[in-house]
Amino acid sequence: MSDHTHHQVHPHRVLTIEQRAAKRVDIERQILRGHHSSGKTHEFDNTHDPKRPITYFFQESQEGLILFVILYTQACKWMRCAGCTLPSTSSLHHVSHWDIMDQTHFLFKQPEILARAKDIQKVILSNQGSVLDQDTFPTTALLHFVTKCNKHLPKMATLTLESRPEYVEDVELEILARALDEGEIPTTLEIAVGVEVHDENLRTNVFGKGLPTRKLESMAEQLARHGFRMKCYYMFKPVEDQYMTRAQAIEDIHGAIKYLGDVMDRISGSSISIHLNPTYAARGTPLATAFKEHRYTPPFLSDVVEAVRYGEKFGIPIFVGLNAEDLEVKGGSFIREDNEEDQMLLGLLAEFNKTQNYRLFDSLPH
Ligand code: SF4
Repeated sequence: MSDHTHHQVHPHRVLTIEQRAAKRVDIERQILRGHHSSGKTHEFDNTHDPKRPITYFFQESQEGLILFVILYTQACKWMRCAGCTLPSTSSLHHVSHWDIMDQTHFLFKQPEILARAKDIQKVILSNQGSVLDQDTFPTTALLHFVTKCNKHLPKMATLTLESRPEYVEDVELEILARALDEGEIPTTLEIAVGVEVHDENLRTNVFGKGLPTRKLESMAEQLARHGFRMKCYYMFKPVEDQYMTRAQAIEDIHGAIKYLGDVMDRISGSSISIHLNPTYAARGTPLATAFKEHRYTPPFLSDVVEAVRYGEKFGIPIFVGLNAEDLEVKGGSFIREDNEEDQMLLGLLAEFNKTQNYRLFDSLPH
């Protein structure tokens, strides 16, 4: 990963057609290197219709109705995170801004989106990578998405963009903020960043995240200066049992909650929330192999609840991802089939996502 700071503005150099083509070849090579070096075997989805999004769905949270959109673009350039198979639904090759704009047009023609458009309070935009990486998600396509949201979603109070921190540039944040200001009501920008593991050693040396804690903190400062929000994605127990026992998985999230609570206290104006995804053994990843060879036990929902309960002391909003997205190998999910306790805990966590009410867990053992 490059080590430039977030605050630098990179002068945009106009490339010749040949240079542009060479750059695209380089980017594909970079993706393939990351894929290879992290031991992944999944394919890319190069045959998806480039004028259609990967998917979209609705979620309910404390912030109201959320529209979650995943657009089809070139894959994440980092690629190295163990257990992540998101790029398998992206293209290895460049997807043009025209095609991405057509995906946005398609979205805002869907009857189920138009029917709920007046109730949508938050939009989360993902491309299974970094929407602020201009190589894979051109800025024009991003601005076009914002203007379409402005036009169709009169109650959009938050727009969340998923991105690695190295692509978060002040100049782009500023332009996005101005574009958002043209909507019906004030809209806050939120940047969602995958931290995955709190323990920095595991995050770097086992998970392969390439995200030093100091970088996370300087991004928190950068967003606070603009009055924007930050959401941190963590995974619950994303590494093999030898690196993380059940107790250590709970400890790791307790550490994250305490750390981010401290950051919020220290950096005035910062607003941070946590999105916690229980891990599943995703197809085509070394974690799936570890699961088959009994070196990885998927998380237990009772442990996830134990981790989340710690948040009560810190007042940091926590949303728990409860969907394995059908990407897991058989039996590799955190939801154990026919397990009554799991069904009950799923219900409690879904309710907690909507209310942040810790009293829901009072009847459970510690
Ligand atoms: S977790 Fe994010 S940064 Fe890491 S490989 Fe997956 S998409 Fe890329």
